[in-house]
Amino acid sequence: MTNIQEALQNYKAQYDQLMKEDFNIDMTRGKPSGEQLALSFGLLDMLKSEDADNYMAYFNYGIPGGIPEAKALFADLFDVSQNEVYIGGNSSLNLMHDMINKFMFYGVSKEAQPWKDQKVKFLCPVPGYDRHFTICESYGIEMIPVAMTDHGPDMEQVESLVKDDASIKGIWCVPLYSNPQGYNYSDETVERLANMHTAADDFRIIWDNAYGYHHLGEELIKVKNLLHACQSAGHPERALMVMSTSKMTFPGAGVSALAASETNINYLLSLFAIQTIGHDKLNQLRHVKFFGDKDGLIEHMRKHKEIMAPKFDIVDAYLSEKLYSPEVCKWNKPQGGYFITIDVLDHCASEIVAQCSALGLKVTPAGATHPYGKDPNDSIIRIAPSFLNAEELKEAMDILCVVINYVTLKKL
Ligand code: PLP
Repeated sequence: MTNIQEALQNYKAQYDQLMKEDFNIDMTRGKPSGEQLALSFGLLDMLKSEDADNYMAYFNYGIPGGIPEAKALFADLFDVSQNEVYIGGNSSLNLMHDMINKFMFYGVSKEAQPWKDQKVKFLCPVPGYDRHFTICESYGIEMIPVAMTDHGPDMEQVESLVKDDASIKGIWCVPLYSNPQGYNYSDETVERLANMHTAADDFRIIWDNAYGYHHLGEELIKVKNLLHACQSAGHPERALMVMSTSKMTFPGAGVSALAASETNINYLLSLFAIQTIGHDKLNQLRHVKFFGDKDGLIEHMRKHKEIMAPKFDIVDAYLSEKLYSPEVCKWNKPQGGYFITIDVLDHCASEIVAQCSALGLKVTPAGATHPYGKDPNDSIIRIAPSFLNAEELKEAMDILCVVINYVTLKKL
């Protein structure tokens, strides 16, 4: 019997053994763990009825663009000026969705044509964030996959696509610790995105800085400022940068923000004002009081790192030690963010996810990282280690490694 056949039999036996157990582990989404959520319980004590008189304006309608304290904090976080900031509701996804919605129905500016009257395409670096793709799908925006590299999207491809096709109206970018690979955009990528010639004069970059302060290493990596780069390149309206505190305090009860040119902010504010008289100003105030300032927020994120980094180490250790051979699987060890991407042998990812599910381990569906849910190579699996505790994560990685070995060796 060859080595591979012996190994396969061995993994099959391990798989059968796991089948006898009763696992129920879910690592489908990048949710903070209870331990991480507890870091922010103090947020709940930030407003006291004794202080209410000081904030009368915040208890009422008004101040639709966000309270000045929150604008100051987010301006600092984005490294822009306060009039280049809009404070949104509890979700940056909501902000991104609403921007696309406004562009569809009203256009990207007072002068521009609504996108709904035109053919609209978006560039989607792949693998990428499934919910960006769902927004496009929901509005009938055609998605064009472009390859992601370890320094951002393949810019040769991006530049050659946008230069002639005026229906390409935008690109989704997760510039720091990208979802799902944890890659960072290089200065050169930022410069090229800001400077490139686009056939569409209403081209927009949705710069989703969801993981801007979510470091796992010692270095606080920073991506070059897109808004400034676009301003210097003479395309000040091209950049639309969003972030939120979802994975700093509480997902679903955080604060989101948009940074863009003053013209864009004023235009979008005029449209957002149709749908809301203002977002939750008390939550904005609670967040500002809780973090204090940018340094306070960075310190808070260091506590998240202490919980998260060991989990990323566990995943890396299991993959390093338990996989049959590096041929069957490549993975990255990001310096931040929430995900680890595993690139398995072609045409194996769906079966691995299905077999994991049969054993009681739920993993993000294969294909979710690609437009229309279709990974042409069927090779990408997204691992989200944050929610599980160390013991559950070890169990999950045990199962995953056995299944990867079993399925890929069958293929080999
Ligand atoms: N953007 C990216 C890249 C994400 O990974 C996530 C959540 O996983 C979000 C946005 C959602 O952010 P929010 O909670 O602010 O809507």
